[in-house]
Amino acid sequence: MQLLDGKALSQKIEQTVHLQVKELKKEAGIVPGLAVILVGHDEASAAYVNMKKKACDRVGFYSVTHEMPEDISQDAIENTIIMMNKNPNIDGILIQLPLPPQIDTTKILELVDPSKDVDGFHPYNVGRLTTGLDGFVPCTPLGVMHLLAEYNIDVKGKNCVVVGASNIVGKPMAALLLNANATVEICHIFTDDLKKHTLKADVLLVGVGVINLIKEDMVKQDAVIIDIGINRADNGKLVGDVDFENVSKKCSYITPVPGGVGPMTIAMLLSNTFKAAKINASKRV
Ligand code: NAD
Repeated sequence: MQLLDGKALSQKIEQTVHLQVKELKKEAGIVPGLAVILVGHDEASAAYVNMKKKACDRVGFYSVTHEMPEDISQDAIENTIIMMNKNPNIDGILIQLPLPPQIDTTKILELVDPSKDVDGFHPYNVGRLTTGLDGFVPCTPLGVMHLLAEYNIDVKGKNCVVVGASNIVGKPMAALLLNANATVEICHIFTDDLKKHTLKADVLLVGVGVINLIKEDMVKQDAVIIDIGINRADNGKLVGDVDFENVSKKCSYITPVPGGVGPMTIAMLLSNTFKAAKINASKRV
């Protein structure tokens, strides 16, 4: 079994983005800018935003976080987005999800200028992904594809089973795998006999949020295992959705949690924001 080291690859990507930022600044006087909207006091959301801000600082981006109270109105968030859409110093806009129940999340995501949609959640970019066109792709599944490529794991013609069907993880993951000519199955909470499906997987990708959902007897010998889940165990440690201790004895490759998909998500946010900065720079010429 070999570990798929997302931490090491993310550091390599960060170094590349750092160099590209220096060049863009030198050549065009442009510093890529990311704006984040963080609503309420959810501990996990605040921690993710903090990690993203630190990564922006490391590669030389300008970043700003708009912190808003839990009881914020729809209008107030929308006005901030409209402002950021117009702001030439902002290349990427990220809305940290989930938003509180009084907020219409779909409306918020649809308001982000698709050329600044570095999370790839706008229906315009979702449509481009599913039709195989260039656009912004959600960071977590994009990070998984980079990790597979780094280890020369080609999914073409392989049976890929995605467990979890959310708009931010499972569905875009499945679209990317399909675009790469894999045979794709998507499982979710209503899937009958999950094991029957997971046992067919040459590559099993799990993003659910349930500790130890995937056990050794649910995995084919020598399968590739991508654990996207991030859960806090009773002992306070971060763990994925896969029973790492036992599954790792049976598979060919596996992502650790932490240190697998998580750091790749942040690296992809950086490269998506740089891509947005290049697009916006070309519009200024
Ligand atoms: P979500 O709650 O929006 O979606 C969960 C999905 O899992 C749903 O499609 C649901 O049908 C399915 N599901 C739930 N229980 C199931 C079960 N018992 N069997 C089969 N399917 C089941 O969650 P999400 O936002 O997609 O996040 C999923 C996990 O991925 C979470 O642990 C989250 O923390 C993690 N995540 C990690 C990263 C990263 O950077 N590594 C990024 C985003 C999310």
